[in-house]
Amino acid sequence: MTAICSICGEEHPLAEMVTAHIEPEDVPAGARGATPEPHDWWLADGEALHAEHPRSFFIPTRERREALQPGELIKLEFQYGPHADGEGEGHVERMWVEVTGAGQGILRNGPFRLQGLELGDHVAYGLEHVISIDYSDAELGYAQSQRPIIDENVIREDRAPDVVARAPGPDGDDVWWMLLREGSSQPVEERINTLTDKFPELVEPLRADEGVWERDGERYRRVDPTTGEWPSLLAFLAEAAEQMHRSMEQEASD
Ligand SMILES: [Zn+2]
Repeated sequence: MTAICSICGEEHPLAEMVTAHIEPEDVPAGARGATPEPHDWWLADGEALHAEHPRSFFIPTRERREALQPGELIKLEFQYGPHADGEGEGHVERMWVEVTGAGQGILRNGPFRLQGLELGDHVAYGLEHVISIDYSDAELGYAQSQRPIIDENVIREDRAPDVVARAPGPDGDDVWWMLLREGSSQPVEERINTLTDKFPELVEPLRADEGVWERDGERYRRVDPTTGEWPSLLAFLAEAAEQMHRSMEQEASD
């Protein structure tokens, strides 16, 4: 894909390589706090990206974006062409911005390659540009630092888990297990926000913080773990946790 450049009038390839900044940075005392005019950089339209990639690119609801308050952190996708790129190629950077007012914020990351913008500069944005919000655990109702153990095919094949259970994990602490009944693969850890982006209905069991849940259409239904097939499933999970624990110890000693 290429596009005619508004700066030089020539054709440039559209940048696809993404640098995602994970954590916001503190603005140093001496930051210039400028308000640069976009020059060969622009903000990606998150609503358009979500419409284009509905099962892989997720954005917060419109209502939540409209309710943003000063002090909250949002993520914006900065796209830029070769004239604004330190490497002269064009690139994409997803960076945190602290909301200061309606459609206004300050950049909370130092750009990796984007020239013309600095940590602490002022940025104007529209609600369509907000691709992520740094939710608090209190707002979500569960700890985002948890790492559920899921069947690898949940993500690889984009299949909602059939069974969700809170049970002992490899470290002895309880973890969430998210399983498939058929066509399963190996257990892997996954970020909780990746899972809830793809399967928002997982929020209900996550908020309950304990129990065993079965997928029932578009939601999860709590089951009684002392009856039917559930005791043997929990015994299976305990054995799987023990095996994972042993293989982790084995890796550590190798
Ligand atoms: Zn150009």
